[in-house]
Amino acid sequence: MISQAFRDLFKLFFPHLCVGCGQELTDSGQSICIHCRIHLPHTGFASYPNNPIEKIFAGRIPVMFAHSEFYFSQNGLVQQMIHQLKYHNNTRVGYFLGEQLGNALLHSGRWQLYDYIIPLPMHPKKMHQRGYNQAVVIGKGLEAVTQVPLLEKIVVRNKKTDTQTRKKRTERWENVADSFTVQEPEALYQKKILLVDDVITTGATLEACGQHILRVEGTQLGIVSVAYASK
Ligand SMILES: [Zn+2]
Repeated sequence: MISQAFRDLFKLFFPHLCVGCGQELTDSGQSICIHCRIHLPHTGFASYPNNPIEKIFAGRIPVMFAHSEFYFSQNGLVQQMIHQLKYHNNTRVGYFLGEQLGNALLHSGRWQLYDYIIPLPMHPKKMHQRGYNQAVVIGKGLEAVTQVPLLEKIVVRNKKTDTQTRKKRTERWENVADSFTVQEPEALYQKKILLVDDVITTGATLEACGQHILRVEGTQLGIVSVAYASK
């Protein structure tokens, strides 16, 4: 009785709210309500060869598969969720997005058995500020659903690169080209790797990281993200 009263009081002051619409959630294990969940903007790309994400990487880096699960629009639901993940320590929402991505991959008809999931590594400085890498959080949800193990420390980011906003693609490429290191190449020898990030826009950073992975003999690469922000 007392603990129930305490819980009710706690909920009154700290209600557990839907990330999408702000409505109170009854299940504290959820991130969004059923209504918002139904309206998540799935792309459906996973089932289609030569989908818009595979086109982004075509001619730039050989990928066996690429996919983004949701459309990212300004002030949209997915942007709100990723914002919560990146700036408000809401790791639960990131894990949920990773699970959503994983379920779509398993049901795409194009799922392959990968050896490892590798989250796009974050700059050490940013990592220090935020305390966690959002791609790792997403990767953990993906790992839970697909049963493909997540490798965190093998590929690392080296140095801070300049802001990329006003640069052309070639300049951007030079800017990020040397910012990754594969620490134990032997661990990736002949492995199928699924590289994961939160949002794909130009794909330049994922491309740079992927190039380093593909230098290890016999590796094959898939690239996935939670969201796709078209320009
Ligand atoms: Zn909602």
